[in-house]
Amino acid sequence: MAGVRTQTLCRYAIEEGLSGINFALGIPGTVGGAIMMNAGTSSGSISDVLYSVNVMLSSGNMLRIKREELNFSYRKLSLDNIFTKSHHGEPIIIDGCFRLFQSDPVELKNEARAILKKRRDNQPTGTASAGCFFKNPPSGKTAGQLIDMAGLKGTRIGGAEVSAKHANFIINTGTASAYDILGLMQLIQETVLNKFNINLEPEVKIVGI
Ligand SMILES: Cc1cc2nc3c(=O)[nH]c(=O)nc-3n(C[C@H](O)[C@H](O)[C@H](O)COP(=O)(O)OP(=O)(O)OC[C@H]3O[C@@H](n4cnc5c(N)ncnc54)[C@H](O)[C@@H]3O)c2cc1C
Repeated sequence: MAGVRTQTLCRYAIEEGLSGINFALGIPGTVGGAIMMNAGTSSGSISDVLYSVNVMLSSGNMLRIKREELNFSYRKLSLDNIFTKSHHGEPIIIDGCFRLFQSDPVELKNEARAILKKRRDNQPTGTASAGCFFKNPPSGKTAGQLIDMAGLKGTRIGGAEVSAKHANFIINTGTASAYDILGLMQLIQETVLNKFNINLEPEVKIVGI
């Protein structure tokens, strides 16, 4: 179901000896959010394992949509090819069906441990952040590498700071306002554009401005 936490789905798959979705270990949020954001890592994304979704329209009618009809891109699912907003409002994902493969639970558990360790080693887990802030450019260096190469690790505006552990994370050191975070976002974008002529696009959704 869409409201199930993605971690619960991952753990359930491991217990059942089903492989394919371990890449999502450590990604916070729900199955519905993961489908809409095409959540993933360099090891895979939801679009790789989704088979179909059930959505509810504003009329209350339900519709099952198969993976082939879903328009996934990097960290995004667009339903515009299926629904016109004026006619249907925003469809709500009710559940997803995933195509996983029979595997050995012990192997999956070991893989899970390694994936979570890699996350802890490379990302500022345990600090307040929105996860990776910018989308990786389609080719070349990752957003984190570009921000690092621009010398921005540790840069602060108010309580917002570019993580010293992973430059694509803006962390709240305790007192950051939305204004601080957006200011730092702009500083990063301007610096990377000036140095490398690359426009970093936010991966996070910014609401309320
Ligand atoms: C510390 C941290 C680490 C992260 N690491 C990763 C990572 O490695 N990879 C990655 O891809 N993301 C990562 N994220 C981002 C985030 O966790 C994912 O995008 C996640 O899948 C979002 O799920 P959510 O339930 O929080 O969705 P929300 O953020 O609440 O929603 C995301 C969007 O989906 C829509 N939505 C949510 N549920 C439904 C539904 N049922 N029907 C219709 N629309 C819906 C919302 O309206 C919104 O537009 C990270 C975030 C944090 C804070």
